[in-house]
Amino acid sequence: MDYVTGLRCRECARTYPAEALHVCDFCFGPLEVDYDYERVTADLTRERIAAGPQTIWRYAPLLPVDDPAPIDLGTGFTPLVRAERLGAELGLHDLWLKNDTANPTGSFKDRVVSVALTKARQLGFKVAACASTGNLANSVAAHAARAGMVSVVFIPSDLETAKIVTTAVYGGHVVAVDGTYDDVNRLCAELTSEHPSWAFVNVNIRTYYAEGSKTLAFEVAEQLGWQAPDHVIVPVASGSQLTKIRKGFGELYRVGLLDEEPHVRVSGAQAAGCAPVADAFAAGADAIRPVKPSTIAKSLAIGNPADGWYALDAVRRSGGAFASVTDDEIIDGIRLLARTEGIFAETAGGVTIASLAKLAAQGVVRPEEKVVAYITGHGLKTVEALAGVVGPTATIAPTLQAFDATVDVDATLDRRA
Ligand SMILES: *Cc1c(COP(=O)(O)O)cnc(C)c1O
Ligand SMILES: [Zn+2]
Repeated sequence: MDYVTGLRCRECARTYPAEALHVCDFCFGPLEVDYDYERVTADLTRERIAAGPQTIWRYAPLLPVDDPAPIDLGTGFTPLVRAERLGAELGLHDLWLKNDTANPTGSFKDRVVSVALTKARQLGFKVAACASTGNLANSVAAHAARAGMVSVVFIPSDLETAKIVTTAVYGGHVVAVDGTYDDVNRLCAELTSEHPSWAFVNVNIRTYYAEGSKTLAFEVAEQLGWQAPDHVIVPVASGSQLTKIRKGFGELYRVGLLDEEPHVRVSGAQAAGCAPVADAFAAGADAIRPVKPSTIAKSLAIGNPADGWYALDAVRRSGGAFASVTDDEIIDGIRLLARTEGIFAETAGGVTIASLAKLAAQGVVRPEEKVVAYITGHGLKTVEALAGVVGPTATIAPTLQAFDATVDVDATLDRRA
């Protein structure tokens, strides 16, 4: 039996049953999952979690679906690594990286999709659909294949080749739409009305989907020895992930898994070519003005973010900030992370690291804070961003002479010493 008591409107607090609903009939506010936190508190102990699977499903009582055999490719419990070299470059003494490139399809989207499709299957859906900037399509196609569901995913036609190939290989329907993500999303909203029997993971079952991102907070707290960090840096597209990370830390305290009330500062990272939320923050505005995206960070290229206002509000309330970074800074961020920590992130990871660098230089992220930066997608998905930027140190004839004349490893060693 699960711990869900129903859905509740974020705006007017009207309640609804836990069905495929996502907006309030009265005020059009988004719906949130409600839990019986007293029962969760009684049942969910640190010991029980430790004895659970090494996946997001170890936190099942705080997820919106109970299924002894969830649709799971092994998502979650990704490494949380101490980043001493990167920290030294940025002047941060207690920096950690949550490496979500290690998820089954190479991005954090496996968390939300595993939850959404398990719930969709329970509700009787046989078709899994989504509007995607790439990583979501990838994950929906893979999880649908695993579950024997039919997938229909919609993507902007200008996505990176790797993201299209790693989605299409699972054999579902991949529909490339000539338009931006916001055009794709509008089309999918229309299709949701036309095909009520399809589970659009980020439309009609978005309420459940979004909950999967809370595991990014749960894991970090558990991996830090049941302690919340002081500050987290989160990349922002729709804004859903950021709001749910904040919710996740709060829930852990609410159910007694954290001893002290967490005060996690939450900061958001966007690409300058698509920064509607960061721009609103910088302007001190309340309204998010939609933009037409133009950035190499395609996974974050949502010009009209569904949870933008909630992300802005969460950052302000937590005492965090936003940064936005140019395409060149994104490339530098990818290379800095790879060079110092051996982690190859996609462009969204470049946005996170470059934003972290900016916020650290501004003193917003403070040297003594325990900081966690979320690295949400794998670099192999966006290799074209680095085309012409990195390559062989030298191309030589197969002779000792040619090597000696061209490459000086000792000089590199000396520079390090
Ligand atoms: C989707 C995505 C995000 C942002 O998620 P939102 O919840 O839409 O803000 C961040 N990083 C990567 C790699 C993504 O694919
Ligand atoms: Zn309402």
